[in-house]
Amino acid sequence: MSAQILDGKAIAANLRKAIQQEVAIITGSGQRPPGLAVVLVGDNPASQIYVRNKQKACEEVGFLSELIRLEPGTRESDLLALIDDLNQREEIDGILVQLPLPGQIDEETVIERILPTKDVDGFHPYNVGRLALRMPLLRPCTPKGVMTMLEHTGMELAGKDAVIIGQSNIVGRPMALELLMARCTITVCHSRTKNLAGKVRAADILVSAVGRPGFVAGDWIQPGAIVIDVGINRREDGKLCGDVDFTSASKVADWITPVPGGVGPMTIATLLENTLQAAKLHNNGG
Ligand code: NAP
Repeated sequence: MSAQILDGKAIAANLRKAIQQEVAIITGSGQRPPGLAVVLVGDNPASQIYVRNKQKACEEVGFLSELIRLEPGTRESDLLALIDDLNQREEIDGILVQLPLPGQIDEETVIERILPTKDVDGFHPYNVGRLALRMPLLRPCTPKGVMTMLEHTGMELAGKDAVIIGQSNIVGRPMALELLMARCTITVCHSRTKNLAGKVRAADILVSAVGRPGFVAGDWIQPGAIVIDVGINRREDGKLCGDVDFTSASKVADWITPVPGGVGPMTIATLLENTLQAAKLHNNGG
């Protein structure tokens, strides 16, 4: 193995510690702590785990955290009314509606109802638009967390060829905007991309967000590349793995993220970072 490990668990722990210290200063000066409301509709088992982890992380750094559970059959109008209420509440700086939502509720309508300055997931069209215009406000957590990891490599990003596999609204697209803002040259690949292996072989930076175990072979990786594996997949033996064949890729790359312990912990730490940012915006009258 030649690659250095980009240790998301450690970077996220440092980030959480810095946030905790900032919260202590805020509350020590008599101000209220940042507040995050998490809304969970239904009983999707994966969503329940994500929500629990987010709440735990909030409590650890000293945020106010409120979990609102709604029945699987909740009507869209009732969820929108709840969001209107959370938009008004002063002690709530961030609103996170855990996706996916049940079929009777339109996700875009719900996301658009959240006040952009409380949209700590960074999914509101206003926030995505600001990112596209190189004037970001609240940035989608997973791509922003990846940028924090890339900073830790100490590598100059400007001018690098970056290849992203996946074009989802939550990972691939905002990832492309982030890397473009960092002045990389971007190729975004998806299921209709021709000669994917050839494109990946030209990547100085590869970000894979497909959701298929072992999808990226080690011999696709350019020697010296930075490999960021966003994929989270469960293998037949129950263990988690990414999209990239870690054993072979880590012999070729200079830097690589493990799964688990890579991008996953960064996503949650970045959610905390966004909530703190939103609290500052609100305290400054934003
Ligand atoms: P998604 O919405 O299902 O998107 C998957 C993307 O992969 C799509 O753009 C799809 O292309 C592309 N794709 C599928 N098959 C392909 C192929 N044969 N060749 C090239 N591209 C292909 O998934 P997502 O929400 O972005 O998530 C992707 C993965 O990241 C999942 O494993 C998810 O669990 C994980 N994830 C991790 C975190 C974290 O914090 N670590 C956060 C979010 C997601 P088309 O658009 O053409 O269909």
